[in-house]
Amino acid sequence: MAGERVNLLGLPRAELEAFVSARLGAKPFRARQLMKWIYRRGAADFSAMTDLSQDFRTQLSAVARIAVPEIVAEQVSSDGTRKWMLRMDEVQGIETVFIPEPDRGTLCISSQVGCAMDCSFCSTAQQGFNRNLSVAEIVGQVWLAHRELTAHADGNEDARVAPGRTAARGNITNIVLMGMGEPLANYRNVVPAMRTFLDDLGYDLSRRRVTLSTSGLVPQIYKLAEECNVALAVSLHAPNDELRNELVPINRKHPIGELLAACWHYIDKQNGRSVTFEYVMLDGVNDKPEHARQLGYLLKGRPAKLNLIPFNAFPGTRYRRSPAAVILRFRDILNDHGVIATIRRTRGDDIDAACGQLAGRVKDRTLVRLGAKLTSATRVPAEIR
Ligand code: SAH
Repeated sequence: MAGERVNLLGLPRAELEAFVSARLGAKPFRARQLMKWIYRRGAADFSAMTDLSQDFRTQLSAVARIAVPEIVAEQVSSDGTRKWMLRMDEVQGIETVFIPEPDRGTLCISSQVGCAMDCSFCSTAQQGFNRNLSVAEIVGQVWLAHRELTAHADGNEDARVAPGRTAARGNITNIVLMGMGEPLANYRNVVPAMRTFLDDLGYDLSRRRVTLSTSGLVPQIYKLAEECNVALAVSLHAPNDELRNELVPINRKHPIGELLAACWHYIDKQNGRSVTFEYVMLDGVNDKPEHARQLGYLLKGRPAKLNLIPFNAFPGTRYRRSPAAVILRFRDILNDHGVIATIRRTRGDDIDAACGQLAGRVKDRTLVRLGAKLTSATRVPAEIR
């Protein structure tokens, strides 16, 4: 729309170069200077960009802006995990979580307001789906977290560390798209955002430090294999279609065989190391020794790692977490089958920031849920809803 200032946050480098050239008649290196200011130094105000001429800054502020979402709440867990709720509009909110570890700092970001995938064990699914996040709203989560995490560096701008450089001072070294939403259902905005995470003038993270997690949108996995090189995680949660149909309804559209074929293709195409399969441990549901053996059969000899996630409870859920001894035995069976399996340590559960607990604030939801949609086409076991 004419007259509306363009939000530069998350604009991929080529587009930013085209923008400064078309709108301001500036050379491409101006775009590179701008990126350094926005991502490295966390600037949101053109007037602070002192190595740009006063004229250029004035021209810029007439046609462009750097707009980030507003933080409405912050919670800090006893284990140091931090969760922010970000305002999306008057009624909607999404959540972003920072998980500090001694050797890394992982930021878990959201890709949608709510989620339509309708996985039966996930709190976000209960919220329903409202809308996709824009590129700026996705990149804005990293921008804000970086600002918040470095704000305590004695208030000294120069003491700030660019993301990706070091784990010191709670810095962001890894980004995972494992917050609210199904990232591959928002492909159009997620891919440009990831390009900014990888760009050396953006957040400069290596492709192994940006992980996209999907419930299994097979066509988009093939597309991603052609277009963007990042680590892939897949929410498997069951070793056979009957059980996975119940837990992850998208499986009725793209069953396990198709999903795994897409995963192996992805690794081949990208010359990647392995796919991380996430597997939530649900007491008495998917945690039996026979399930571990079936998984071993599916994944043995493949470029795969399995990440066992102890189920995190939320109000209204009918599931329980598998006992610790069951999880350990499950892992051992897999390891005996030659499949690398690790147990994900639960972080931030005292502030509802653990996997599957992000609820945000999803009002106005359209209540278009995949489970409901698929019901009309396929017969669905009664216990799903
Ligand atoms: N929609 C994407 C991104 C979400 S990632 C996906 O499905 O992969 C969040 C991870 O946490 C997924 O593996 C998800 O299945 C898992 N998860 C969801 N609910 C959970 C819960 N209650 N406890 C533990 N893990 C859960």
